[in-house]
Amino acid sequence: MGPLVDVVPSSDRMPRRAEVVVIGGGIVGVATALALVEKGIETVLLEKGSIAAEQSSRNWGWCRRTGRDLRELALIEASMRMWEGMDARLGRETGFRRHGILYASRDEQQRDRHLRWLEHAREHGFDSRMLSPAEVVERVPGLAEPLAGALETPADGRAEPQKAAPAMAMAAIERGLNLQQHCAVRTIERQAGRVGQVVTEHGAIDCQAVVVAGGAWSRLLLQGVGERLPQLKVLSSVLRTRPLELPIEPCVSLGGVAFRKRLDGGWTIASSATNLVELTPDNLRFARLFLPAYRVEHRSLSLRVGARSFDEAFHWRPGRADAVSIYERLRVLDPAPHAPALAAMIERLRSAVPGFAGLEVAQSWGGLIDTMPDAIPVISPVERLPGAFVATGFSGHGFGIAPAAGRLVADLVTQDEPIVDPRPFRLSRFEDGERIRAQHWL
Ligand SMILES: Cc1cc2nc3c(=O)[nH]c(=O)nc-3n(C[C@H](O)[C@H](O)[C@H](O)COP(=O)(O)OP(=O)(O)OC[C@H]3O[C@@H](n4cnc5c(N)ncnc54)[C@H](O)[C@@H]3O)c2cc1C
Repeated sequence: MGPLVDVVPSSDRMPRRAEVVVIGGGIVGVATALALVEKGIETVLLEKGSIAAEQSSRNWGWCRRTGRDLRELALIEASMRMWEGMDARLGRETGFRRHGILYASRDEQQRDRHLRWLEHAREHGFDSRMLSPAEVVERVPGLAEPLAGALETPADGRAEPQKAAPAMAMAAIERGLNLQQHCAVRTIERQAGRVGQVVTEHGAIDCQAVVVAGGAWSRLLLQGVGERLPQLKVLSSVLRTRPLELPIEPCVSLGGVAFRKRLDGGWTIASSATNLVELTPDNLRFARLFLPAYRVEHRSLSLRVGARSFDEAFHWRPGRADAVSIYERLRVLDPAPHAPALAAMIERLRSAVPGFAGLEVAQSWGGLIDTMPDAIPVISPVERLPGAFVATGFSGHGFGIAPAAGRLVADLVTQDEPIVDPRPFRLSRFEDGERIRAQHWL
């Protein structure tokens, strides 16, 4: 079971028409809906399960500029400014705090990568810097393993994934959003060559535009309208502890294990060393595009054939308007965490930071990360289907960037001046000859 998420009530009445329908009540869909209603656009948000039940409540909660892909720097910078004013904007607590993020440099090679990224960070005016081994121990008292230093961005921060998207959704409802949960979208219908209707399990909604913000389901949703989105899923495992007082304020990655303080006094701890890929037909379909990323990441990836391999091969099909769909049959993607990965990271943390020796696990969970071959999202119109937009593939770092990503989607829908240049995020990059490569700085 996933973590407990703040509950958001659905709206009373399911509308039969709207200017814009947003599919997916994760933080990206919610941030998009919030930006749209703030622009005065009549918007409906449809979620097959409940707000933030998938990736958006299961993540680490880091809001990070540190080590970001250079193509995302402008967007994350805009997002960090928005996080700063978020609680005041929403009138609610998202848990956002600026206590910095710190990535240990475990050897000279990693330190060199950090130093190269720093050159770019400085051009953007970020406050990132290299810490000496002694400075790392100041930030992480009791650290008991030798490091070559660390890359730190003091103005980075963290927020609470179980609170943030619900708080944004509540504020959007107050501004006129119609939210329908337990309402799976089966398919998107065309009329006169453009988006005409979104068909759900509870009937159809006529609309002028639709935003697909379906996280790990976006590939299937787009396949339903004849689009090819090269997206895969990677299982990542997380736990939270019972309250444990330790004087460590920044989010810290030691390589292998990452941790941060929670608002409830516990810690969110995750494995950054072991991510699991269950082989599915999509892995074969997109193998060529993902090969460069796999070559770089293979040490942290375990491939296996599991239950999802068969489930996806036999049951994951695009929905049809007149039949119960996979989206209704699988309301919430709730994969079991990888127990060996959890055990290994607890052991590593206890030996690296003895203050954690007495940690008590309160809960653990798995989350499926929607990953693109170049590890940056798609935030884009769907050119072959006028009126359709997509915001997905945040590749394990969409929580921090979501506020600005949602605003960018809303700008594209309303054809306003975009908050940042959207070209790096266009869907067509996978077929227009761009060299598809991820940047690895951390
Ligand atoms: C373990 C883990 C750790 C992470 N750590 C971080 C981090 O520290 N910092 C960071 O920035 N990011 C992190 N991420 C990534 C971040 O969580 C995601 O990028 C972000 O939550 C994506 O949000 P989303 O709204 O696109 O997708 P999701 O949260 O997955 O939401 C998609 C929603 O669409 C709904 N949906 C799908 N299909 C349909 C349909 N047919 N009808 C109706 N609804 C539908 C789903 O039910 C789901 O609720 C992490 C992710 C994981 C899994």
